[in-house]
Amino acid sequence: SSTESSTPSIFSRIIAREIPATVVRETDRLIAIEDIAPKAPVHVLVIPKTERYRDVVELAAGDPALLAELVALANEIAAERADGEFRLVFNTGENAGQTVFHVHAHVLAGGLKESSLG
Ligand code: 5GP
Repeated sequence: SSTESSTPSIFSRIIAREIPATVVRETDRLIAIEDIAPKAPVHVLVIPKTERYRDVVELAAGDPALLAELVALANEIAAERADGEFRLVFNTGENAGQTVFHVHAHVLAGGLKESSLG
């Protein structure tokens, strides 16, 4: 389709095992990996295997069931890795700090009560 790029995203290359990553969970349609530059005691990225959606707005419009799967997996990871409570961040657009345009959620957990957003 017109939204497919010729160059695989960094996350597609991780999913293809062309680039190493620490895989936390994998399902038919999602992969969860440790962020390479963690910003919290738990910092996992939950990533749809398809790179057809560049951000959460496109994902929500195009495959809301996949977005719901992503949220459920984030919850499971937070339950396993922390106290079940977590922050789910989707940077959306360059000016919001998005650097990889293959939709992914940051699952941040572990003692974030005192840390403000941003
Ligand atoms: P964004 O800024 O697009 O929301 O998030 C991209 C995230 O991907 C960043 O937190 C960054 O640390 C992480 N990241 C970028 N490249 C790699 C990589 O090669 N491996 C892993 N595990 N994380 C990466």
